[in-house]
Amino acid sequence: MARNAIVTGSARGIGKAIATRLAKDGCNIVIVDACPIENSQETADEIAKLGVETRAVRCDVTNTEQVNEVVETIKNEMGSVDILVNNAGITRDGLLVRMKEEDFDLVIAVNLKGTYNFTRAAAPIMMKQRSGRIVSISSIVGLQGNAGQVNYSASKAGIIGITKSVARELAPRGVTVNAIAPGYVETPMTEVLPEKVKEAMLGAIPAGRYGQPEDIANAVAFLCSEDASYITGQVLSVDGGMHM
Ligand code: NDP
Repeated sequence: MARNAIVTGSARGIGKAIATRLAKDGCNIVIVDACPIENSQETADEIAKLGVETRAVRCDVTNTEQVNEVVETIKNEMGSVDILVNNAGITRDGLLVRMKEEDFDLVIAVNLKGTYNFTRAAAPIMMKQRSGRIVSISSIVGLQGNAGQVNYSASKAGIIGITKSVARELAPRGVTVNAIAPGYVETPMTEVLPEKVKEAMLGAIPAGRYGQPEDIANAVAFLCSEDASYITGQVLSVDGGMHM
């Protein structure tokens, strides 16, 4: 039977690539995003052409009630929740001394609390099923920090904490919980960076090229596969060698 996968923030960017790759592996896909529903529906329709069942849901990952309702509905209507990918994320960069409190709070709410919300909602279902895969998208910045990203690095380091704790709690129930730490990936999120910053990034990547959303999607697909059933609580860097 096809597995059902929820991918947050998947109307575009890395999330869309993950959803597409999991569909190629035969999973039914639920696109969850806060963007206008037409955008998510467009992505869902595109992925449906691969021959799997798809759904588009408008949901803000920071809204606990909405999140619980989405996960419950998917379980009731599709029968199971087999894969959860916590991918939704934002940046509000600024040096510490200039960072506004609301920019700190918002990034923590979306990236960290959003990951907690979806993991909290899906875990009981996966525990009951005695199977499941949770993969959360952290960042190289969660491992080594970055000037101008106190809020973002705290949220991404927090995701690693959630991952390791939940991995320990769910391992006896056949559920694996891992994180991926991408380096620099070409998406709408990084498109807006100044050319100078992009060039400096390239110089710091031993592989000599920027990451593509598909590079991240391939790693997620592996962690969701049967081959990865004995891997849990890990942080996999997918960054062309930027962080070693
Ligand atoms: P994008 O900005 O291209 O896509 C993020 C998606 O998440 C958007 O569709 C966005 O929707 C959605 N989203 C934002 N806030 C919420 C919310 N509150 N609830 C639901 N959905 C939301 O980002 P990327 O594809 O580049 O990044 C994906 C993930 O990978 C993020 O977690 C990011 O931190 C991480 N990452 C990215 C790297 C990179 O180099 N690109 C490097 C390391 C990590 P909307 O249109 O409404 O904003």
